[in-house]
Amino acid sequence: MRHLAVITVLHRDGKISDVEFLKYRKHLDKVRCLWKRIDYLKSILPEGQRSSKQIRRLWRKIRRINDWIAHNVSKRIVEIAKGNNAMIALEDLRWSMAKRGKRSKSMNRKLSNWVHGRIAKYTLYKANWEGIYVKFVSARDTSKRCHVCGGVGYRKGAVFSCREHSYTSNADFNASVNIGVRAMFPNVWGIVNMPASSGCKAPCKSSK
Ligand SMILES: [Zn+2]
Repeated sequence: MRHLAVITVLHRDGKISDVEFLKYRKHLDKVRCLWKRIDYLKSILPEGQRSSKQIRRLWRKIRRINDWIAHNVSKRIVEIAKGNNAMIALEDLRWSMAKRGKRSKSMNRKLSNWVHGRIAKYTLYKANWEGIYVKFVSARDTSKRCHVCGGVGYRKGAVFSCREHSYTSNADFNASVNIGVRAMFPNVWGIVNMPASSGCKAPCKSSK
């Protein structure tokens, strides 16, 4: 989880006007710390016992922090959508969980799935309230394709590199734009290939 969420405003002509990276690093570090503590407490439980008062108390703490994060992220997503008169496109978590392993042992993965599930739930709720349409799209290959030209590239750490037009960008941002393009045009890769696109503009040359 380099970024908990990336919010991008993508226009029909392929223009990108707002990008927001949400991290909540401190809160997530705290959750990881509580999680480790729970692991430890579980390891010293007497045989046959699966939980304890102390463990349940730590779980409640984690749930409160995750809830707080999810409320804030979803609030921001809906605010930005409302301000831009936009619909909302979210990554379909059922897809990513199946792909990355629902029972993954990685704590980061579990934590990520959990928080993202809540973000989706709260976003849907808040968007319904505001009358904003929410579309869930599969994240298939969104880390492997260039959001500008649609060409094949690869992700290495936080950076996405396009093989087609020697371009690099932040990998989470790249995937975020791909999700938006897919929500509007399911069979299109790359903003230059969107029907109303006026071709490759400024973001094409820069390295974000
Ligand atoms: Zn490209």
